[in-house]
Amino acid sequence: MGEPPGRPTPILVVSNHGHIVGGGELSLMDLLRGLDRGRWAPALVVPEDGGVASRGRDLGLPVHVVPLPTLWRPGPGVVRSIVALGRLARTTDAALIHANGSRAMIYGGLAGRSAGRPAIWHVRIAESDGAVDRALCALATGVIATSRAVARRFPWAPRKVRLIPNGVDLVRFTPRAPSRALGAVLGVPPSAPVALSVGRFVAEKGYGCLLDAAARIERTKPGVHWILVGDGELKGELGVRARRLGLESRVHFTGWRDDIPDVLALCDVFVCPSENEGFGRVLIEAMAMAKAVVATAVGGIPEIVLDGATGILVPSGAPAALADAVRAVLDDPARASRLGAAGRARAESTFSLAAHVDAVERVYTEVLGAGRAAGELAPIEERER
Ligand code: UDP
Repeated sequence: MGEPPGRPTPILVVSNHGHIVGGGELSLMDLLRGLDRGRWAPALVVPEDGGVASRGRDLGLPVHVVPLPTLWRPGPGVVRSIVALGRLARTTDAALIHANGSRAMIYGGLAGRSAGRPAIWHVRIAESDGAVDRALCALATGVIATSRAVARRFPWAPRKVRLIPNGVDLVRFTPRAPSRALGAVLGVPPSAPVALSVGRFVAEKGYGCLLDAAARIERTKPGVHWILVGDGELKGELGVRARRLGLESRVHFTGWRDDIPDVLALCDVFVCPSENEGFGRVLIEAMAMAKAVVATAVGGIPEIVLDGATGILVPSGAPAALADAVRAVLDDPARASRLGAAGRARAESTFSLAAHVDAVERVYTEVLGAGRAAGELAPIEERER
């Protein structure tokens, strides 16, 4: 298909956060890296300088800092920022505004209205925000939902919502032999079975349940090591709980790491004990690394991990079920490698970064067409996957 020649279309991409808080920012950076620069000229807007801005600059993008003050106590800064963003949309000649998250959408949507530019709201969380959802959806020309669980926030707006799962970089996340050196650094003995979790240490990630499951496994199958990668407000508390459960020599808290593919290569099973998960990038990363996954059947997870085919799903908050599933995978390496191979195949067929970028670019095109024509998107056609 020949694209019309001409200069790339400028767009403004607004990030909720200036720092890398979690998967939402990493997914946005993956998208910005993947966008076809021959067609799109993104400029990045961040509320403050930090990791998001520096990664944007590394990609060669213009970066603008526009504060996005909290709306709990609205002040004059709110109007100033909406005006600044509207001006930026005009001076950069942005054809559309892509807002990553709710706060970005409030500002991006209102600025878009004032400057006459359509706005796309990228939604990554499954919990509803009630009336705010309706207001932001009304401001948006299109809404990107990362899973059906997320799309269910907007039952009244099927024409606006596009289902686009996150993508994983299938080259960065390529299966490889485990590094003994890295295992030693993380405190894992060479022949020990290893379970791994990656994610922020916050209540919704379910790490308390995971530690209880680890204690159960230690009673019936001693010697399993657990690598817990990430950071967050519960880190100290979880350390105390691990010690109380007598697991201090089994559970290894690594803090934040940038070498997730290498850490994944060390594990025999990937465990996601979340109580709530809009999508869960870590799942497609583990699948891409051909790892068997044990995860809770919450939010968008059952759309990603196919129970019995790429992993085992268990109820959330159920340590006994989690322990049984993890033990079942560890006790049957042949099954683990079957699940892992199926996970890699599913990551390739359904969650490639290339397909993700392509789908977002199609929404850009659609929204720009809608802006010129009726001002509304065509009905949603969910692709079965
Ligand atoms: N991550 C990382 N290093 C860490 C912890 C997490 O690079 O120490 C990455 C992880 O690989 C994944 C993202 O952070 O890409 C977390 O995204 P996910 O959607 O799983 O969770 P969220 O933080 O968005 O709730």
